[in-house]
Formats: sequence, structure tokens, C-alpha cells
Amino acid sequence: MLAPTTPLRPQPDSLWRAMAARAPVTHAPVSTGTPLNRDLSVDVAVIGAGYSGLAAAYALQKRGVDCAVFDANPVGWGASGRNGGVVSSKFRLSFPTIERMHGLDTAKRMHRLAHDGVRVVESLIDEFKLERAQFEHTGSLRCAHTERAFAAIRAEADWVRTALGDSSMTVQTREEVTHETGSTGFIGGVLSADAGTILPLEYVRGLARGLTARRVPIYESTPIVEMTRARTGPGVTLRAPGGTVRAKQVIVATNAYSGLTSATAPYQRELVPFRSAMIATERLSPELDAKLMVQRRSYTETRRMMKWFRKVDGRMLFGGRDAFGKEGQDTGFDALQRAMAALFPDLAGVRVEYRWSGYVGMTFNALPHIGRSDDTTTFCLGYNGAGIAMASLLGQHAAALALGETPELALLAQQGLRPVPFHSLRAPGVRLVAAWYQFLDAVGA
Ligand SMILES: Cc1cc2nc3c(=O)[nH]c(=O)nc-3n(C[C@H](O)[C@H](O)[C@H](O)COP(=O)(O)OP(=O)(O)OC[C@H]3O[C@@H](n4cnc5c(N)ncnc54)[C@H](O)[C@@H]3O)c2cc1C
Repeated sequence: MLAPTTPLRPQPDSLWRAMAARAPVTHAPVSTGTPLNRDLSVDVAVIGAGYSGLAAAYALQKRGVDCAVFDANPVGWGASGRNGGVVSSKFRLSFPTIERMHGLDTAKRMHRLAHDGVRVVESLIDEFKLERAQFEHTGSLRCAHTERAFAAIRAEADWVRTALGDSSMTVQTREEVTHETGSTGFIGGVLSADAGTILPLEYVRGLARGLTARRVPIYESTPIVEMTRARTGPGVTLRAPGGTVRAKQVIVATNAYSGLTSATAPYQRELVPFRSAMIATERLSPELDAKLMVQRRSYTETRRMMKWFRKVDGRMLFGGRDAFGKEGQDTGFDALQRAMAALFPDLAGVRVEYRWSGYVGMTFNALPHIGRSDDTTTFCLGYNGAGIAMASLLGQHAAALALGETPELALLAQQGLRPVPFHSLRAPGVRLVAAWYQFLDAVGA
């Protein structure tokens, strides 16, 4: 955990950081510029400057509520500045499964929320004029690795069309998937049209710049190390190394990095953090560029230990969940490179130029969680590796909850914190589950 005086940690050395450094200089500041260095009073304090926290702050600012954002690190230092940039309109739990467990009406409400997430990204891009984030509504192709998996995703697409009236999911044959991806490793696929790609670090920094321009203070390098009920009057007192913040309400938007200090650590116990790793190759030759991923969509596959890939900056970007090492360790990257070469033999000799990783917050019920942990504190977290659209949406809904409103949350609504059972055993548990999933994937089950 962070000591109260922990210095600012740099953004991980990723392709996103390199691309941001190459982009035209913008003079609009990302944040308030200095860590918190005085005492402050606000109506709502937001902890965490990723998509969740910044979306919450924007929703508050639009309602004229006095708020400020605090992050232990630079804006987007967490998953929001490291992810694959796959913008999707789904949950880890499929809509037919939701219907089986909770009924058709709930499945419809969840389906609406999933697509609302993409609408929120689009409107934030518009309102903040985030051309630098290069959001492209190109769709996402889910590629099946076995006949069985193909049958399952075809059935899901059929069900979504007939039961939910959504015809944005279409089936692609083996030949179509091979032509589009340049890989012969798939049996077929399902294209979700309401999805796309984005530059994740540009998106989060763009949101921060927009908020700073709207006079919402964002304090980087400001870990909240203590959170207590105010001694006098209603509200909460937050303590950071440089000052104390009095707030009527707090929004905790720290997701898989909640364990950075003991103040937010209770929120970490809602989650099982999985390390997720990414590699980016050198720029592809014109021949490979013309052969691989010609539609420039985002791509995922059906293996339990899912890999995803896309082309960006003329490079192949390839990611996967890797439960076996810690952030900053080299474990996982070589395995990822082997998996990439197995799916794309053309890339076997291509050099990998960037490798980085981060934590995703998985939940026990495979759905994001949003709710109030007490009468002064609201939280949203647990996007299960699909948080670009959902964190942008739930941040806004967290703001509404903090103000006493009742947004539509369907199955995502949570009453209080519910720590994962046997949380202290999560690391060996994750390793065990991951090894079992890898075995099932390897035997094609
Ligand atoms: C490698 C990787 C690939 C991914 N790929 C995709 C993808 O392609 N598509 C997709 O939709 N999702 C993806 N995700 C998930 C997505 O990035 C996350 O769901 C989303 O960014 C979560 O945003 P957030 O704002 O809730 O949390 P974060 O962006 O993680 O922000 C949390 C912030 O809280 C701060 N913080 C924590 N504790 C404190 C404290 N006590 N005081 C002050 N600050 C604190 C941290 O410094 C951090 O900046 C991926 C994640 C990873 C790691």
C-alpha cells in the first residue's frame, strides 16, 4: 500500500504513451497542475481520475454541483490509460444467460444499459471534442475457436435478434472471418455493429482537459489515505498528504486499484483483480498491413482465457488475461507473443516493441457493481475487463446516486459492499481457475 508521501508514479511505458508523446502538442492542461496542498471543502469529492471518476465529475459539473477529483497518480494511470481500446456493448454475462436467470424484462433493461454505454462514449467525444481519441464505430468481431463455441455465439446472436429485437449482431462464415482477420485459426464469428475502437489514454486525458477547462479541479499525485465521517456536521473528511477535504458526499472510483491505500482498500475486496497484459508489434510491412484486420475493427475470441487484438498505428496490438504474474513482471508477455504467432503465423518474426500490463476488476457475478456503501459514499467498479463504455456510463450514474436520484441500474445495483468470499485466498484461487481455463481451452472443451 502507498505510504502517505508516495511520489507520483509515471504512466506505464505503453504504445499509448508513445503515441500521446508524438501527437501535436496541446496547451490545455490535463489537471489542476499541483497535488492538493491546502484544505478544501466541496459538495462531492471524487476519488480516482479514470473514466469512472471523470464521468462522475462531469455529470456533477453539468448539474452545477461543486466537486473535485483526487488521484494518487497521473490522470489515466490506472486501467483507463492502459487498456486495449475495445469499446463494446456487452457484459461478461450473455443476454440469454441473464434472461434465463432473471427473466426477459431484466435482460431487456441490461441490454439497454450496455448500449447506453456506447452512446455515452459518443456523446462525451462530441461534447469534449475529443478527435484525438480517434473513436471509430467500426464494430467488434467475436471469433470462434471451436465449432461448439461458434454454435453458442450464433445462438446468442439469434436470441438477441428475436427476443430483444436487436439485429446489430450478424454471423460471419469461416471464410469471411479468415478474409477479414488474416488468420485461419477461427471457425466463424459474430460481428457486433454497436462497438468500435478508441485511443484509451487520449480519451481519459481528453475528459480531464475538458473538465479542467470547465473549472473542475483535478488533483494528481494526491492519494486519499484516510476517509472518516466528519467530526462535526454531516459528511466525510478525506485526508491526503497535502491537505484535508471536507465533502458532503464521496464517490469512490478506484476499481482494481482500490488497494493503493487503506482508505479505499475495502472496495478492493469487492473484486478479484486479474492481471491483463498487452503487446504491440513494430509497424507492419505494407503487405501484412493489407492482409491483417482489413476492416480495422476490434476482435475478441471465444477462449475462456480470451485474447483480443486490433490494428493501430500500423501495428498489431494483442492482449490477454494473464493471472500468473504481478504488474511490472515480465511473466506473460512471451506467452502472449506465442499465442499471437499461433493465430497469425505471419507475425512470428515480427518484433514486439511495447509490452505493458494492468489490473482488471472481476466480480463474482461477472457484472459491474454500483451502489452506496453508506449514506455518504457511492461506488462503481468491477467492469470485468470491459469498462470503457460501462465506466463512462456508471460514473454518470454514480453521480446521480450521490445526489439522491434513482437511475436505471437493473442488475448492476448493489446494496452496500459485498466482499468476495475468502478474499484473502484470491491470488491462489485466480491461479487455479486460470490454469483450469487454460487446460479447457487447450483441449477445445
Ligand atoms: C490491460 C487492460 C486492457 C483492457 N482492455 C479493455 C478494453 O479493450 N476494453 C474495455 O472496455 N475495457 C478494457 N479494460 C478495462 C478498462 O480499462 C477498465 O474497466 C476501466 O478503465 C476502469 O476505469 P476506472 O476509472 O473505473 O478505473 P481506473 O482507470 O483503474 O482508475 C482508478 C484510479 O484510482 C486511483 N486510485 C486508487 N486508489 C486511490 C486512492 N486511495 N486515492 C487516490 N486515487 C486512487 C488510481 O491511481 C487510478 O488512477 C482493460 C483493462 C486493462 C488493465
